[in-house]
Amino acid sequence: MVGIGASKIDCMKKLISTFLFLFALTAIAAKKPAPVDPKADLVLRHGRIYTMDASRSWAESIVIKAGRIVYIGEDRQVGNWIGPLTRTIDLSGRFVLPGFIDTHVHPVEGGIGMNRCALEETVSKEQILRKIRKCAADHPDAEWIVGQGWALPAFPQANPQKEWLDEIVPDRPVFLSAADGHSAWVNSKALELAGITRDTPDPANGRIERNASGEPTGTLRENAANLVYKLVPPPSMEEEIAGLQSALKLMNGFGVTGFQEASVSVEGRDLFARGILNVYRETEKRGLLTARVTGAIYADPAQPVEQIETMKKLRQEYAGKYFHPTAVKIFADGVIEVNTAALLFPYLDKENDVGPLNWPPEKLNAFIEQADLEKFQIHIHAIGDRAIRVALTALEAAAVRNGLRDARPIMAHLELIDPQDIPRFEKLHVIPAFQPLWAYEDEYIKDLTVPKLGKQRSRWLYPINSVAVTGAMLAMGSDWNVSSVNPLDGIKVAVMRQSPDAAADANEPFIPEERIDLKTALAAYTIGSAYANFWEKETGSLETGKSADLIVLSENLFEIPAYRINQTKVLLTLFEGQEIYRDPAWEVH
Ligand SMILES: [Zn+2]
Repeated sequence: MVGIGASKIDCMKKLISTFLFLFALTAIAAKKPAPVDPKADLVLRHGRIYTMDASRSWAESIVIKAGRIVYIGEDRQVGNWIGPLTRTIDLSGRFVLPGFIDTHVHPVEGGIGMNRCALEETVSKEQILRKIRKCAADHPDAEWIVGQGWALPAFPQANPQKEWLDEIVPDRPVFLSAADGHSAWVNSKALELAGITRDTPDPANGRIERNASGEPTGTLRENAANLVYKLVPPPSMEEEIAGLQSALKLMNGFGVTGFQEASVSVEGRDLFARGILNVYRETEKRGLLTARVTGAIYADPAQPVEQIETMKKLRQEYAGKYFHPTAVKIFADGVIEVNTAALLFPYLDKENDVGPLNWPPEKLNAFIEQADLEKFQIHIHAIGDRAIRVALTALEAAAVRNGLRDARPIMAHLELIDPQDIPRFEKLHVIPAFQPLWAYEDEYIKDLTVPKLGKQRSRWLYPINSVAVTGAMLAMGSDWNVSSVNPLDGIKVAVMRQSPDAAADANEPFIPEERIDLKTALAAYTIGSAYANFWEKETGSLETGKSADLIVLSENLFEIPAYRINQTKVLLTLFEGQEIYRDPAWEVH
């Protein structure tokens, strides 16, 4: 009995323990993630991959799974990743880079402009007028003729006349903003609707150009353009979404997979800030946002600190998966060409005039200090050497009062930097976001800038290399629709300091000592700009664990003469491993 009983009990014990053991096993199995299919979605091999990692290493192959890079390295290591469902692309030695990141760009405006009267491709007065005539004829029912992109140097003193427009469009109002966005050209009908006459005073931060007898000429600078622009019927939401889509398509085609939208707002349709937060939200909701985006919320100098509470709400309300309005945008000054940039010494063509600051320094300091305290990233438009100095000082003061934090303030444009201020970027951890495409001797520089500064001061125009050698974290951007959105145009000029159209036997470089090498330029447009957007752990270089944001190019940029950099084509753009652009002529094997 005992024996039997004992064996029975033993048996029970065994059963129970087996049951417990099995139960434990199931419990462990349940805790374990489901077995993972080790095979990749996509493998790119036999390439020349410039990874942009810290040691700037090269690789041959890249393995992508669920939008992430799971391996990058040698061809011979990738075999195990390839299963029956894995797509493989043979790069046949093609050059691969991380996707470009544009730290200062206006895609919604640019995209709407692409679908309106676009004057960007015109150069001479005759071409501009011909295009406007065509726009008016193509849109006989449009209430207004609205366009943008005319080049300042096409007209004497950058001052086109209303009469030229009246001849083409006498009966409907016309509003055409200049390529740099700081001037507008309107016809008599538009002036009449806005009630602008010889007796209208210049608005704050704006100027109505007038002829010798005091009559408005039809050119409006800075805020004066808003006197007319506020009457222009705003584009519909659908027109804006279509605009952003056109822009994304264009940018993805140039290899851009991330950017900072340099001025957003929820309402208020002034020249600089359109109500475009909704456009990003809606575009993202529809699954059409094919890039990661930081939005810089426009800061109004008329309500310095008060607006920060609203900005905090916007930051929260409009945060999406790829879109985050976590920066604020400050226009410290205007532009040199029309004497609206703030200089340390007077313009040579205007006695005692050093140009205006849009924000008095004490207001600027108060706003930056508070916005920084609320953990906004500060993004400042600063062109003249006085604006740059005042902005650096405001950032320095905020850092002292709020304590050093990982704030990464961005200063964009940086046209004229006083040499004394050059080391301050690195010292204060301010990110210089240059528009390298502007750094060559075009008509803007030759006719409208150097004569206002003189030779000696002009030495410090776009001193990109001087800033780079201090060790500052360089970022780059296009400022499209002011200038070309193709990063390779900017990179070529950064390397050559010559026109983006320059051929091998081009002219002398513009301030040759400010050229930078290709490595530095590429880093600024990828990992540097990723850092400028707090994305360096996610993108900006090709490393295991990061998002598969990358481009395949038609040429290895390190193996061609610099003048051919922007003849190179993007063949393929991946964003999170998804193909968002492919050159239709590229045959993939
Ligand atoms: Zn801009």
